[in-house]
Amino acid sequence: MNIAIIGAGLAGLTAAYELRKLSAGSANAGEKGGLKVDVYEATDRVGGKLHTVAFEAGPTDMGAEAFMARRQDAVDFFTELGLADSLVEPSGLRSLVWADGEAKGLPTGGVMGIPSSSETVKNLVSAETAERIDTEAEREGFQWEVGGDVNVGALVRERYGDEVVDNIVSSLLGGVYSCTADDLGLRATIPQLAGELDRLATEGDGMVHLSTAVANLERSRREMPTGQGAVFKTFHDGYQELYETLAEESGADIYIDAFISGIELEGSADAPKYRLTGGEDTVYDHVILAVPAPTAALLLKTVAPGASEALKTVKLANSAVVGMRFATDDGLPQNSGVLVASGAEDVHAKAFTFSSRKWPHLAERGGALVRASFGRFGDTVAITATEDDMVDWALDDLETITGFDGRAAGLEEIYVQRWLGGLPRFDEGHLATVAKVRSLLDDEPSATNISVTGAWAGGVGVPAVIADARAVASAVVRQTPSTQE
Ligand SMILES: Cc1cc2nc3c(=O)[nH]c(=O)nc-3n(C[C@H](O)[C@H](O)[C@H](O)COP(=O)(O)OP(=O)(O)OC[C@H]3O[C@@H](n4cnc5c(N)ncnc54)[C@H](O)[C@@H]3O)c2cc1C
Repeated sequence: MNIAIIGAGLAGLTAAYELRKLSAGSANAGEKGGLKVDVYEATDRVGGKLHTVAFEAGPTDMGAEAFMARRQDAVDFFTELGLADSLVEPSGLRSLVWADGEAKGLPTGGVMGIPSSSETVKNLVSAETAERIDTEAEREGFQWEVGGDVNVGALVRERYGDEVVDNIVSSLLGGVYSCTADDLGLRATIPQLAGELDRLATEGDGMVHLSTAVANLERSRREMPTGQGAVFKTFHDGYQELYETLAEESGADIYIDAFISGIELEGSADAPKYRLTGGEDTVYDHVILAVPAPTAALLLKTVAPGASEALKTVKLANSAVVGMRFATDDGLPQNSGVLVASGAEDVHAKAFTFSSRKWPHLAERGGALVRASFGRFGDTVAITATEDDMVDWALDDLETITGFDGRAAGLEEIYVQRWLGGLPRFDEGHLATVAKVRSLLDDEPSATNISVTGAWAGGVGVPAVIADARAVASAVVRQTPSTQE
């Protein structure tokens, strides 16, 4: 059986690895379980949005730089890959938020910056907003449809006011999704809060309070057993450890600089096989698309026009990362980084990670390593700004926010990475779109042997991307005759 995977980012490489592992155990297994897997990658490297760059001081991530370590499935997967000893923990230093021309402590409680009381956010909101937060539970609740979804920004603006969204929630969500809260859906981005609102609505008459839901989640968090280790971890030598291991262990033939521009149906629609435009001269029994949503829409145009149309509604946010290494860290605050409030007009950057403060293994290199991030959904900064502009803004903003003068500190290395079409926008219609695309693919006879995976389908976080790709690979192996017992 021939299987093609389009896209050698985390999703594509994970699917390739998992296919090999699962098929090797099947009854009809040949050397690779009867499966030949070809992976096609449009660029000249594997990894996609995981990209570790060789700084002179050591390998440095320019895309993802951490993962949610409370996802045991991800930690188990890395252990299976032999990477357990590479996992390292952060320093635990607090982050800051830049709002109203001041760097202030980022609130510790709440859920994604949404507080249950004004206690932890007093430094970031006016007395009037603080009062509004504290009296939310006394006002009339709002109608919550169980299983439904709302826009995060609209919900928090309505219950608590604009300052909570602009100064706190958008900064935190923007760090993950490159979007403000006004472009994001609650169920896709803060599922635990949507779940708690479901529970409260089921218990009551559908009327709920935001502060009650957040307080309940805070309580269950406090009751969780302690000693579970760091919330986030990373790889000692960067994400290259992961993507290179996956590529190697997958046993797949990986073609780089191989842009696939179309999928052609081969044979009959009720027993579909496929050829790839831009691929090898091979007929594939199954194709896995592990590419961003707009590319998947393009590739599905002929074989699954309905799914292709549905996918076109998924929009992407552009972003850019400027990595900077300085000779000294004197004067860099003892914090992990700083998020910029979405309304701040005095700086260009949306966030800084003080990487050598955040990660002790990077501090050991000496000097200072700082990442500046630019670009949110709807703006064009990451596309239109020149590299020189971005470096200048990064240095100016860093000085404005922290007082650290990067030029005087000796800028030794710089790397500018643009992420055009970086992350999908998880708005309030996104989960329904993903479900629709998958169901349309299931119902379309000519697309029976096509699967989709990737950040847009399963969630943007590294553990979510891995989980979705593994589930897709597992379904393919179950479906593929030569691998069935
Ligand atoms: C700046 C940034 C920081 C992030 N930080 C974190 C973090 O700290 N923690 C975390 O958990 N997540 C983070 N993420 C998210 C995470 O990195 C991504 O969700 C994940 O890496 C996406 O993997 P993917 O395989 O779905 O997509 P991609 O990485 O986009 O892979 C898709 C691949 O398909 C290829 N491709 C596209 N079209 C074609 C074609 N026609 N033919 C062949 N190949 C094609 C692309 O070149 C690419 O290599 C971050 C993302 C960004 C952009």
